[in-house]
Amino acid sequence: MSTFLFDEIIFGPVKSRRLGISLGINLLPYNSKFCNFNCIYCECGWTKDKLEKQSFHSVEVVEKELNNKLLDLYNNNIIIDVITFAGNGEPTLHPFFDVIIDLTIKARNKFFPKANIAVLTNGTMISKPKVFNSLNKIEQNILKIDSVIPETIQLINGPLGNYNINSTLENLKKFNGNVIIQTLFVKGYYNNVVVDNTSEIELTSWIDFLLKVKPNKVMIYTIARDTPVKTLEKVNIETLEKIANLLTINNIKSQISS
Ligand code: SF4
Repeated sequence: MSTFLFDEIIFGPVKSRRLGISLGINLLPYNSKFCNFNCIYCECGWTKDKLEKQSFHSVEVVEKELNNKLLDLYNNNIIIDVITFAGNGEPTLHPFFDVIIDLTIKARNKFFPKANIAVLTNGTMISKPKVFNSLNKIEQNILKIDSVIPETIQLINGPLGNYNINSTLENLKKFNGNVIIQTLFVKGYYNNVVVDNTSEIELTSWIDFLLKVKPNKVMIYTIARDTPVKTLEKVNIETLEKIANLLTINNIKSQISS
């Protein structure tokens, strides 16, 4: 199996490892991945060297497709647990992300008031008040932190432009706990450099960071599908359990998805 791109705005519902029955929303273009990270494990493949101008799906089209799909599910008695923003890259890069979150809340309240709204984000846009406020409105604001050591972030996440973990920490604290941290653990090699964010130094600094953020929960998982770098490997369940244990000792709630 190779990496893949979604070719729809609304996809699913699918059974998600972490979220339950999930209806997905892909706000990014169909034909290419659009992200300001370049994670070595990204299921969508590699990011282009720089973010080129893109034409995003309009608010009107997203609203129409979402409402049509929710009506269809409702009429067919298909219950969903969550509406999840994911897809071909970073959803918060959509210029009208805030408007789309508001219309999604409205549609959710109309058709499936018990469903959560989740956003899987790399957190690079949380310094923008509109993005921050929108993420603060939803139930599952799931933000990626794979490492807090700058060299490892460069190696695993390959951010385009400046990414500063200390500024990210300050912004994360402003959620006052209304944030879920997701961390993907991975081992292997990339360009002959060892990849391992499960080492003692990684975990010690990561826990220290989490204690300052005080997240609602931490989701820990490992690779499950094909990755652009072929020399990566899954982290075994025993290691994930040890990491979960470490979180428990530090009074941080966790969830393993192996
Ligand atoms: S942040 Fe997500 S979409 Fe972007 S490169 Fe990483 S895994 Fe892929």
